[in-house]
Amino acid sequence: MANRIRQLDEKVKPVRAALDQINVEQVAREAGVPASTLRYDLQKVAEALPQVLANQKPGPEPPDSASRIATKTPPTEEDSVCPQCGGKVRKNGTYWVWNWLLMLTMGWLGIQKVLIQRRRCKGCGYEMVAPERLRQGEAHQAWLQQVARLVGLSRFKLGLSVRKTQLLVGFVYARQVSVGYIEKLTHQVGQRAQSVLQRLNQCRQNVALFLMYDETFPKMSKHVYSLGVAICEYGLIRSVRCIRHKAKDIPAQLRTLVGENFHPTYFLTDLDVMYQEYLTQAGLTLSHLRDKVHLIRQIVRLFEEAVRDVTLDVPKGLPTKERQHQLQLKRRLLRKRLQPLLTLVFKAFSPTYESVCVLTLEGVVSLLQDPTMILQTASVQTLTRRLQRFLNKHGDTINRLLQLSIENGTPMTTNALESKNSIFKPFSRIAKFFPVLERCEDFFAGVALMEDFDVKTRGAHFGTSAMQRAGINLEDLQASDFFSAVNLPKPQISIAYVTD
Ligand SMILES: [Zn+2]
Repeated sequence: MANRIRQLDEKVKPVRAALDQINVEQVAREAGVPASTLRYDLQKVAEALPQVLANQKPGPEPPDSASRIATKTPPTEEDSVCPQCGGKVRKNGTYWVWNWLLMLTMGWLGIQKVLIQRRRCKGCGYEMVAPERLRQGEAHQAWLQQVARLVGLSRFKLGLSVRKTQLLVGFVYARQVSVGYIEKLTHQVGQRAQSVLQRLNQCRQNVALFLMYDETFPKMSKHVYSLGVAICEYGLIRSVRCIRHKAKDIPAQLRTLVGENFHPTYFLTDLDVMYQEYLTQAGLTLSHLRDKVHLIRQIVRLFEEAVRDVTLDVPKGLPTKERQHQLQLKRRLLRKRLQPLLTLVFKAFSPTYESVCVLTLEGVVSLLQDPTMILQTASVQTLTRRLQRFLNKHGDTINRLLQLSIENGTPMTTNALESKNSIFKPFSRIAKFFPVLERCEDFFAGVALMEDFDVKTRGAHFGTSAMQRAGINLEDLQASDFFSAVNLPKPQISIAYVTD
């Protein structure tokens, strides 16, 4: 009870009583003024008490509060009957409230106050709520909702920090919101976004064949978490998760992803060898495919290693400089020899070659083994062996990947996923202030959900959002856009209140 807010009546009564006890005659004599004058002045003080003692918001008044406009409410039902005790209701002073309606509709131009006439029952103290106060109360709620939406936009779309968001709200409305409020709201919205993402697999939707998964590494404070991101072929971000222990967190994430209405057939990742194991641990039996770009990059790497690992068979005692020179020469020669074969590799992966891609790669292996084509040095033999092993391992999945892409138009690369990952990078700068992993995760869930609802204004997906492309049934999701999904729908105020 220590710091509770005292009601106005509680303050006015005792001060009135104290004023009544003043010995007016004596004070007037001592001050040398007529007693009637002093009595008159005291009366004015007594009348002004409700206004003087009204609970004020702490902090300085905004500079333009001098321009407050008094729009006196018309005295309706003067001296009406108290609904509580049947006693008479009388005027009981006035008070100022912010004109939230103007604030809502006109932004910072709307900062003004309205005067409210209080009417109170003399018998039981019941206060009749003025219609103007109801109207302003509703407008206030609508204004708060609009500010919350602005904060949501600023944090999850514009990527502004808490301080910059505060600045933005201040600029639009000339009213301050606290840093704590913005942080709390950010967290709440993030939590709700996370639960919406988790509900995605329970909504009716288009059949998705692919689950693409990758880790990204946004900078998050001193703790180096990675962020596991999963999307389907429609580009819908279905899950984000902070990864601390890969072996534990990634299988857990994969497990929660797949559900009633989302059970993909293929798992598309880069060449990280651990993914197959995570998939097994998650208890999923998806067919594991590898991203085309990473496959090509891997073959190029094998060729580069062959050139790098060239050995020199020269008599001892040759000066180092001379050895280096000969080595360079031999490398250049081999690179020149291998170049047509590498060109063939790129050709194998190019469009219209899908059906013969693996065959072409096997042809490259045969050419590498042909002594008339290329000198069978140790590094070339190693290359041949490694490329053969690569084909044994990935040949089938390469064929499947390319075939699916021809037949169903499914992706061959994780490029879509990597472009999603790049969205998170700038946000990590403003998320790093969350010391707790879960809060970071919720924050990125908010960013992901915003992106899922984002209608593209250019590019291949012009005019659609990922939610639309994936055919997520929005009734099942119970949301029509980001803001309604995180429980921040557009504020509605009764038209009667606006036009009154
Ligand atoms: Zn009453």
